[in-house]
Amino acid sequence: MQVRFWGTRGSIATPGPDTIRFGGNTSCVEVTTNAGACFILDCGTGARALGAALMARGPSPLTATILLSHTHWDHIQGFPFFAPLFVPGNRITVCGPEGSGRSLREVLSGQMEFTYFPVDIGQLPATIVFQELGEGTHEIGGARVVAEYLNHPAMTLGYRIEADGAAVVYSCDHEPFSETLWHESPVLGHAESIVHEGDRRHARFMEGASVVIHDAQYTPEEYPSKKNWGHSTYEYAVELASAAGVRELVLTHHDPTHDDTFVESLEKRAREHANKLGNVVHVCCAYEGLDLTVAPHGGQHVTGSFSAPRGGGELLGGRRILVVDDDPDIRALARLALSQDGHTVIEASSGPEALAAVAEQAPDLVVLDLLMPGQGGLEVLKILRSKPSTAALPVVVLTAMNDEDNTRAGFELGATDYVTKPFSIPQLAARVRACLKRRGSGVT
Ligand SMILES: [Zn+2]
Ligand SMILES: [Zn+2]
Repeated sequence: MQVRFWGTRGSIATPGPDTIRFGGNTSCVEVTTNAGACFILDCGTGARALGAALMARGPSPLTATILLSHTHWDHIQGFPFFAPLFVPGNRITVCGPEGSGRSLREVLSGQMEFTYFPVDIGQLPATIVFQELGEGTHEIGGARVVAEYLNHPAMTLGYRIEADGAAVVYSCDHEPFSETLWHESPVLGHAESIVHEGDRRHARFMEGASVVIHDAQYTPEEYPSKKNWGHSTYEYAVELASAAGVRELVLTHHDPTHDDTFVESLEKRAREHANKLGNVVHVCCAYEGLDLTVAPHGGQHVTGSFSAPRGGGELLGGRRILVVDDDPDIRALARLALSQDGHTVIEASSGPEALAAVAEQAPDLVVLDLLMPGQGGLEVLKILRSKPSTAALPVVVLTAMNDEDNTRAGFELGATDYVTKPFSIPQLAARVRACLKRRGSGVT
């Protein structure tokens, strides 16, 4: 496989004299397999130059697959400027996460309405096929493509492309599931020592990859004020890649406020951190024009929770969700987040009320606070798991208790996910969607 970077910037394009070295175009990476399959990871403004290069390079007609992580601006703004779309006979498949409320075609055509752009999506001469993906394994363009839901305030997928005896992972717009990554006394470098099941799943997703392209928008100093914005620090990316036995880690989605000098210093710090961990992961910051030839790496396939077949395209709305919290403001916020997706929200303000509501109304998912007067959330969770009828009921813990002991206790008792307060409305909505999707597709 060959990997080439066309856009490395996050959030908004930042051309100018201060971003010449690492580039100002937003996310776009080209991956070509030895058999000639062309994958385009995200369609930020970098896609314009990629489109021009593909046109110059041939072959004609062109067949390519665009894998969109999600549809935030910085990942789709290059789409209307991607020249191969304007050539009859070309065939472009556009893949992106399902379950974000509107179809992929609707979202992409929205940014091409005449108010914003002179050419309607329906007027594009190329054949465009839209394919919405869930978490799991897909056969696309002759390669095995594994998708994983990331932690971002929108439905967002990471992709693992397996071909030519190697794996390339693209994980942009993702933030740690937990501020505490490792158990207090970790067996260094082992994914089992990761506290939150979501971060552990993410490490497994990267396992043995030759190249991991990872979000590293922030430094550890910047992160606390940007929590819940959906991006990682270089430390997180380095530690997970190291635990996952990754050969090469490429940090990307550079912050628009970081000039070349700053990104250089971030790269230096990331390398020092990798050296400290003692593993042989090579780290660099992505720049426009970076070209990597991926050597075979034993042909490993990621297994476990990602090998299940993907779920159907069933609608996610219309589920019954029980929100349990003694704080009426939190219940109101959660109701707002979930009713936007068309769910029916039931509320309970205590443990006994929650158990009664589960028995009477059989919800499809429970959002559960831990610290309540009287019967706490962990006790409720324990009771739910002890009964055959609710043993597999998805339970999303929503709590301010984000320390290792509580997170660990939550997962050990069978929590499906563990979300910490304060949370944002789109973040909670995305996490609940991911839990429902996993349940619907049989992926655990
Ligand atoms: Zn982004
Ligand atoms: Zn985003």
